[in-house]
Amino acid sequence: MNIKSNIAEIRKSIDTVCARCGRNPDAVRLVAVSKTKPAAMINEAAAGGQTLFGESYVQDFLDKADDVTADIEWHFIGGLQSNKVKYLCGKVAMIHSVDRLSLAREINKQWQKIDQPIDILIQVNIGKEESKSGTTADEMTSLVRQVSELPMLRVRGLMTLPPWFEEPEQVRPYFRQLRELGETVEELNLPNVEMRELSMGMSHDYEVAIEEGATMIRIGTAIFGARD
Ligand SMILES: *Cc1c(COP(=O)(O)O)cnc(C)c1O
Repeated sequence: MNIKSNIAEIRKSIDTVCARCGRNPDAVRLVAVSKTKPAAMINEAAAGGQTLFGESYVQDFLDKADDVTADIEWHFIGGLQSNKVKYLCGKVAMIHSVDRLSLAREINKQWQKIDQPIDILIQVNIGKEESKSGTTADEMTSLVRQVSELPMLRVRGLMTLPPWFEEPEQVRPYFRQLRELGETVEELNLPNVEMRELSMGMSHDYEVAIEEGATMIRIGTAIFGARD
């Protein structure tokens, strides 16, 4: 497993896809998903120039964050229980997985204590899958409206974990739908809400996600190898 060359491969592929669909590659940020992987691997990726990392499990993140010596930006991307929000406060620059008002309120409360704003994304369960978290597309607008009233939260876009298909092309309609939802919200002109980010696309489908407008792709396996 050569982490640095994996990252270089993905960067090259981002450039290729962007050239093909007429997008600026600087507008696509690579989130290296390091969940369950040790600090040493994160440090190695950082030495290869990677600056943005995504984590999904609070305890796993806390256990290793202090051993990461590089100056990096952490995003939290996983399902989040309200009682664990306090442990992330001041440590992550963005939370991708806000899917309910109670969670948004707790984030607001904790970041109020440090008197700093926090960027968040609204997670949408675009495929309406039982097994996945996320607000439904129908409820999304009302959630965004309520979240926009929380002073510490800056809504920066939408995130999704679409249904799994062997063939990435089949995921395209879901990515497209997320983009269209973002455009709908943008038109509402809500305070504290700017739909500039679409966090979508993982190891096996990120190329399609970029074609559909992803601004952040979340890649774990293709960088760090399979997880146990
Ligand atoms: C694990 C995870 C990823 C990365 O998935 P890979 O298939 O390993 O690239 C992306 N997003 C979320 C929310 C995840 O939990």
